[in-house]
Amino acid sequence: MPPVKKHVQKSLERTGKEYREIHEWIDDPPTKNERHDITKIPDNFQMFKEKYGEEGAREYVQHLSDDLKGKFGHVIEDFEQDMASALAYFGSK
Ligand SMILES: [Zn+2]
Repeated sequence: MPPVKKHVQKSLERTGKEYREIHEWIDDPPTKNERHDITKIPDNFQMFKEKYGEEGAREYVQHLSDDLKGKFGHVIEDFEQDMASALAYFGSK
């Protein structure tokens, strides 16, 4: 997952605001997994909307989406590497 610093930077690029409190809340280590639970998006979206407005709530969803992309990016890299060594092992490359 990208660190809070990267999320803040992306928010700044997208909205001109950092929304640092939102990113810190989501990535707070003791509750990190729970706060990345996509089934909680409707409730959390509402909470952030009341606190920071629609734009802030959208940055919350964006954070989860950026994390997923980061994760899948990594998964794909690992997969490509495993595949290359499997092909090498079986003599196809
Ligand atoms: Zn995160």
